[in-house]
Amino acid sequence: MTPALARAVYLDNNASTPLDDRVLTAMLEVYGSGAANAASAHEPGRRASARVEEARERVAALIGSRPREIFFTSGATEANNLAVKGFMWGGGGEHHHHVVTASTEHPAVLEAVHALDHSRFQVSILPVLPTGQPDLRALERLVRPGQTALVSVMAVNNETGVQTPVAEVAEIAHRAGAVYHCDATQWLAWGGIDVEELGIDMLSMSGHKLHGPQGIGALFISRRLASDVVPLLSGGGHERGLRSGTLNTAGCVGLGVAAGLADEEGPQAARRIGELRDRLEATLKHELQGIAINGGEARRAPGTSNVRFAYGDGEAMVALLPDVAVSTGSACTSLVPHPSHVLTAMGLSDKEAAASLRISLSRHTTSEEVAYAAGRIVAAAKSVAERWGVESGPEGGST
Ligand code: PMP
Repeated sequence: MTPALARAVYLDNNASTPLDDRVLTAMLEVYGSGAANAASAHEPGRRASARVEEARERVAALIGSRPREIFFTSGATEANNLAVKGFMWGGGGEHHHHVVTASTEHPAVLEAVHALDHSRFQVSILPVLPTGQPDLRALERLVRPGQTALVSVMAVNNETGVQTPVAEVAEIAHRAGAVYHCDATQWLAWGGIDVEELGIDMLSMSGHKLHGPQGIGALFISRRLASDVVPLLSGGGHERGLRSGTLNTAGCVGLGVAAGLADEEGPQAARRIGELRDRLEATLKHELQGIAINGGEARRAPGTSNVRFAYGDGEAMVALLPDVAVSTGSACTSLVPHPSHVLTAMGLSDKEAAASLRISLSRHTTSEEVAYAAGRIVAAAKSVAERWGVESGPEGGST
């Protein structure tokens, strides 16, 4: 029997990662250094502005862009909205009126695309394969050379961890003359990338998915597109006119420090966490019958496991696990009692989607926590199966 831990094991890192202590220290220093508006011309204002610019450099370094191509936002929801609506309402949509996005995108992209004026813009939804990966052959058929303005496909799915072959998507988009936007929110905790090399024209990120603060994010916009994106907010013209509103100085600093740490520590953490995740899945498969890993056949980001139970009920499992924080699907939509759009897009029935649990690790997760959680999840699954009147252990029943 695994001994109880002092506090709940937190395995819902795709919903939000804990703040790194070094990020907190940097932010407290900003909060403690007195109030100033980074747009003010006086000395405290100039100091705040210098901090913001240093953070911009760190964020740019994580993705291989220039600092001038980084625009701070309130998070990835806003960054996605700015990329989709700002580009389509601006230069992007002036002559080309077609947008392609994938069925498993985060609602911040899907809803932004659906909010476009349908009398002016056409939308195609790219299907995914049963593995959860976007169907690239379908993408080749869906893009319309000379008509498609924007292709928006995420890098890593927040529910399954399934990775998109980003460079291939970029190439297909570019061949059709379209711009490629990538929601990289769930990707960057595991290390730096190079937007230029990958062919990414716009990229969204969020502080709280890489051990930074909540309420801050950024949109990278390639300098080639800078004048094609129009702002969504009217105001004082901050962020070179693209995002009005007093800058969240401490948030920017926190995101900058978090970006630097993700760059330095992400790749090594990815190896360790990938092993822990695989061990967790092996334990569940060994202890329980009929376990399937949604998206398990695809290349996945290291921290995510979306587990489907043969006799399961995700909601009941969460209720039986007060000391293990996991989720039944995307936290952003878990208040809405619908089966996950991601899992059903992969071909799962509503029942199968409801029998799935998202377990997500971060670089702060320890092997002790994973071992404890595995024991508790096995016990909860057996208890749910008992209610169904079935044998769930490794020996009995069919698999
Ligand atoms: N995109 C993805 C892939 C996400 O996982 C999330 C957060 N659930 C968002 C966008 C929205 O990010 P934020 O919370 O910063 O608005």
